[in-house]
Amino acid sequence: MSNFEILRLTGRCSNGAERDGGRLYHAVKGIRALCGKQPGRRSDWGVYPGKAVTCPRCIARLENLAIMACKGKDENGVW
Ligand SMILES: [Zn+2]
Repeated sequence: MSNFEILRLTGRCSNGAERDGGRLYHAVKGIRALCGKQPGRRSDWGVYPGKAVTCPRCIARLENLAIMACKGKDENGVW
């Protein structure tokens, strides 16, 4: 279900579009974060995963997913 990685963007903030680059940990699934962030031409997801997601927008998405997971849990009667 929540098979995402906790990663931060690394690389240069050359275009000003990644002002939080390297600071915030996002919940990354595939190449894109839940908040829609993805690496630019000069940046990439870091190699080392973080311990917690710190991106507010990713956290909001995760909370929505958690709510949906709870509904599914009740319907299935599992967990
Ligand atoms: Zn994010």
